[in-house]
Amino acid sequence: MPEPIYLDHAATTPVRPEVLEAMLPFFGPRFGNPSSLHRWGREARAALDEARERLATTLGAHPDELCFTSCGTEADNMALIGVWRSRREIGRNAAVSTPIEHKAVLGALHEVAHEGGEERLLRMQSSGLLDDPSFDELVDEAAAVCSVMWVNNEIGVMQDVPSLARRAHERGVTFHTDAVQAFGKVPIDAKTTPFDLLSLSGHKIGAPKGIGALYVRRGTPMSPLMFGGSQDRGRRPGTENVAMAVGLARAAELTVAERDEECRRLGELRDRLESALLERIPDAVIHGRGAPRAPHVTSISVPGTDSEAMLMALDLRGIACSAGSACQSGSITPSHVLSALGVPADVAGAAIRMSLGSMTTDACITRVAELFPVLVEKARRLATA
Ligand code: PLP
Repeated sequence: MPEPIYLDHAATTPVRPEVLEAMLPFFGPRFGNPSSLHRWGREARAALDEARERLATTLGAHPDELCFTSCGTEADNMALIGVWRSRREIGRNAAVSTPIEHKAVLGALHEVAHEGGEERLLRMQSSGLLDDPSFDELVDEAAAVCSVMWVNNEIGVMQDVPSLARRAHERGVTFHTDAVQAFGKVPIDAKTTPFDLLSLSGHKIGAPKGIGALYVRRGTPMSPLMFGGSQDRGRRPGTENVAMAVGLARAAELTVAERDEECRRLGELRDRLESALLERIPDAVIHGRGAPRAPHVTSISVPGTDSEAMLMALDLRGIACSAGSACQSGSITPSHVLSALGVPADVAGAAIRMSLGSMTTDACITRVAELFPVLVEKARRLATA
């Protein structure tokens, strides 16, 4: 059997050797608690401060604007719930987002509603882009916070975050973006793009699972979600995970340094894969193809097939893809993203997400482009038998 092919980089990525190497001393002799005043503590504090500085540099941010979290989900929750709790006191009781967000944002929005806030969802165009008039309608003087993801994890569509952030500010609304899939795929610079908060996750960029970060622009009102210690100036109490912070900073630096070249490479591979599949399966639908997209994700539906059977057939041939977001795998329900774009249930139920990354080579794409149409033909034959 040929080498297995991993086409699920949007779900998670392997830890980079350089990242592991940077982290290892903190699982060994450099084990100190950054709050301790002795030499072990001071050493850990210095490593944490340096990691914060390095991560800040990759974002054009000040170090004190970065808060390390346990994951992207925590960063999204802190942003949505924390800002809403802080701003509802001045009469801004609504939180606004899109129906295509990751469940981390949608779940936080439900919590806002549970605590008495008003949950508002923007409308989408079928292309995957935001419906502009609904932004003007819903992001108003009663809104505390608006959150729009930069790159969608299922279809790769990219929203115009710089312009949305500016428009939110015109109405005094705090703007958050989930950049978990955008980091390393679009240039992000806090100096030139006026987002107030931005979420990151380590395991999408070559750091381990269990580390993320929230950028919080100076002066942004945000209540903490946890209480106790004074770490991170009370913004996020709890002893800091020094090893993981060091790993995230290293991964972010490498990712940004390689960004332009890697995006060009992945974009070419993605385009070649899509063209080859469309040539052999002319009725296949590639979701979001008409909109600006990040280069690492393609989502394809072949009418007459279903995701689960196709995923299993691909897996048997050593090809790992996903049906929607990984968090839902195990129980495959039609994607809320595709439903929000008006994709009919049978087409949404056939969607396969292939996401490219560091492990994707030319040879991988050639093999998938050959094998996928064969599996489609078999699935269609079985369905009509
Ligand atoms: N936001 C987006 C767009 C994602 O793709 C993910 C993970 O799939 C998350 C948030 C959650 O990140 P984490 O897995 O670090 O909690």
